[in-house]
Amino acid sequence: MSVLQQSRINVMTPWLGADEVAAVTAVIESGWVAQGPKVAEFESAFAQAMQTTEAVAVSNCTTALHLALVVAGIGPGDDVVVPSFSFIATSNAPTYVGARPVFADVDAQTGNVTAETVSAALTPETRAVIVVDQGGIPVDLDAVRAVCEPLGIVVIEDAACGAGSTYKGRPVGAGAELAAWSFHPRKILTTGEGGMLTTSNPKWAARARALREHAMSISAADRHASLVSPPEEYAEIGYNFRMTDLQAAVGIVQLSKLPEVVGRRRVNAARYRREIEDIRGLRLVDDPEWGTSNFQSLWVEVDASYPLDREQLLVALADAGISARRGIMAAHRHAPYRHLASEGTLPVTERLTDRTLILPLFHTLTTADQDRVIAVLRNPGG
Ligand SMILES: *Cc1c(COP(=O)(O)O)cnc(C)c1O
Repeated sequence: MSVLQQSRINVMTPWLGADEVAAVTAVIESGWVAQGPKVAEFESAFAQAMQTTEAVAVSNCTTALHLALVVAGIGPGDDVVVPSFSFIATSNAPTYVGARPVFADVDAQTGNVTAETVSAALTPETRAVIVVDQGGIPVDLDAVRAVCEPLGIVVIEDAACGAGSTYKGRPVGAGAELAAWSFHPRKILTTGEGGMLTTSNPKWAARARALREHAMSISAADRHASLVSPPEEYAEIGYNFRMTDLQAAVGIVQLSKLPEVVGRRRVNAARYRREIEDIRGLRLVDDPEWGTSNFQSLWVEVDASYPLDREQLLVALADAGISARRGIMAAHRHAPYRHLASEGTLPVTERLTDRTLILPLFHTLTTADQDRVIAVLRNPGG
């Protein structure tokens, strides 16, 4: 069938509607659009939903990771263990603070680092580890912390993909000293761009709040609130990593929809599983024993017993108007990090990067559209 005869199926479609429009309109009408009361309201709602004590809203998850490393005291001369199997921001954050990323391999079932792969990557200079809930699959955080904490190594959770996933019965990130979240439209909640840093440490939260706003002693919102504001001071070099109230207003609405969005995604993921689990050569990612995934990226591994390889299957899907995506990248294959790990040294990462693709999955995916995807997977020759 020709693409012209059927609508395109995207890999992801954000769920935005009249409630978000009304929330943004109200902020515009209030006359205060930069970081202010809506950001504060979003922070407390997010902290409560994620069962953490402190939430600091920032411009995106990349800046949240950067701040996490700064408040944890990571800098030049330090090593930070990260998975290469992640969006490149996970590796860039240590680089921004002058530290060196050191790559740990991942587990083939989850796509996440484990206590074993992290242990194998530790160096005498390791001061931090960034673990990722890759594609929404919860990482086994406690196992990694048990290895790191006796050595004084801080574990930061990159929960960019993780909103709505659970670990041991609580939201992912709830048990982390520091966790970083993304509200990019490719993730589960969106504010257009946006991020959050959550932490159990009030001192780190206070420093992150100051650093996101140039380390100013008085916030812009407080300065605006007083007619004659006291002179501000700058205790150190900070950043402009602020979120706007326009974004936060959208985030508050999106957060209220999170349980429904994740519930719907899990129903759709379960249907994919039922329909394709008997296909030889395809393996669909699944919940680990310690938690549940929001399936932010529902990936399937295409192995040699399937009639097509991953690239050919992507083309077959595209021919049917379906926009699947290559799986997660490997940072050590890209120019800034090639010198840190040679090909062949991260075998599971390389295998998953070469053989996986991400299936269309979103809240409003219809059964009919899902059937079109399943039909191609079952009969890729058409
Ligand atoms: C998307 C993503 C990021 C970056 O998020 P931004 O909000 O776009 O900066 C970081 N880490 C992981 C694992 C991601 O998937």
